[in-house]
Amino acid sequence: MQYISTRGRAPRLDFGQVLLDGLARDGGLYLPESWPRVEPATMRAWRGLDYAGLAKQVMRLFVGTTIAPADLDRMIDDTYAGFGHKAVAPLKQLGANEWVMELFHGPTLAFKDFALQLLGRLFDHALDRSDRRGVILGATSGDTGSAAIEACRDRARLDVFILHPLGRTSEVQRRQMTTVLSPNVHNIAIRGTFDDAQDMVKAAFGDEAFRDQVGLTAINSINWARIAAQVVYYFHAALALGAPDREVAFAVPTGNFGDVYAGYIAASMGLPVAKLIVATNENDILARFFRNGDYSSAGVRPTWSPSMDIQVASNFERLLFDLKGRDGEATAAAIRTFRETGHLPVSDAEIAKARLLFDAGAADDARTIDTIARVFAETGEILDPHTAVGVAVARDRREGVPAGTPVVVLATAHPAKFPDAVEKAIGRRPALPARMADLMERPERYDTLEADVSILTSHILSHRRNA
Ligand SMILES: *Cc1c(COP(=O)(O)O)cnc(C)c1O
Repeated sequence: MQYISTRGRAPRLDFGQVLLDGLARDGGLYLPESWPRVEPATMRAWRGLDYAGLAKQVMRLFVGTTIAPADLDRMIDDTYAGFGHKAVAPLKQLGANEWVMELFHGPTLAFKDFALQLLGRLFDHALDRSDRRGVILGATSGDTGSAAIEACRDRARLDVFILHPLGRTSEVQRRQMTTVLSPNVHNIAIRGTFDDAQDMVKAAFGDEAFRDQVGLTAINSINWARIAAQVVYYFHAALALGAPDREVAFAVPTGNFGDVYAGYIAASMGLPVAKLIVATNENDILARFFRNGDYSSAGVRPTWSPSMDIQVASNFERLLFDLKGRDGEATAAAIRTFRETGHLPVSDAEIAKARLLFDAGAADDARTIDTIARVFAETGEILDPHTAVGVAVARDRREGVPAGTPVVVLATAHPAKFPDAVEKAIGRRPALPARMADLMERPERYDTLEADVSILTSHILSHRRNA
């Protein structure tokens, strides 16, 4: 399988190259030259596979021959063996034809583990094959840092440096990072804000000599391998609910458009998806686009669902490329106009095309809290605020889904990650899962640095292992 750029001017690459390159050289994002098709008979044969077994079948279609099948299978087995629920992505029924798929049984209690746990292994394997070492560098305001750390800990070829603003993350968030004592994990508290930390990371990536010297890589949400790994759970849920002989709809709490875009890929591969419902909080640029074609940026407002406080959804460009008939020039021109004017030019026909599969809605903070309370009263289930946005919008948009079709809401985080929102809704704080219950007593390790990129780069040079 070959990969092409959404802007049409970068070289074709295979999976292994796309994995390590991230962004295409023309500024675009890589995606497969054509969607692999899965026939109904194949899907029926996949029914009953366990999660890792299904992941092997789906991932193979994207990986092609760039990784030996036995190596890929082993990495997939290792990845999902580390999840805290035997079903890996269990389905729970909330009401008639209303389900949640729990994607929070990974090591950091959020769905990003599904892709990042595999990505860390894929990186390590690729570096091993080419006898190189790599450094993962990122800044976090709380959530993604721990997922990256858990993905890279104890990998032979990788060191991971994660910056957080000193004293500005919640204690649970900090401890999820700083209590990982593996020798290749380097937590750094920056005397400054998240933006200061982010600027230092950007400056380090901008220093080409340094970048090449240490093999600097980002684990960000535009990486194709991350998206591919997320396609699996759409198949998993739909097959369990009767696909390919029955349609299934999904409602997806959305920020960077990575997770719901994976659902679009599953549909493009032949999975019978009745609707993909894009659910946003008050930062609703995507909901506005799918409702009435208005893709225009506004300032980001903080909400109870912070991982969705995003107004420029980086993966959206991949969908736009398909809406524009896979025309790289037209995609690049539209993105340029958006940058210059804050408005994305799309035709009525393109919006109509998107609306065949997608629907959308937004839920504000009051609705989020009310939904947590309501679902708890109805079923005893405690939702995290991101999942609550998904349930609220799924209920609002139910009429757009054929009667009798199951709607699966993706539960993207464990409620214990967001205890304040849950307490506001139901008057008590959810407990951490047993394997994390002692988080507040575990020893921590981190260094504290001034907000200065030259201090950061020399710290990385002296602290990465056996350079
Ligand atoms: C990252 C995240 C999201 C948004 O996912 P995207 O792929 O960025 O759309 C939603 N919920 C939680 C809990 C997240 O961590």
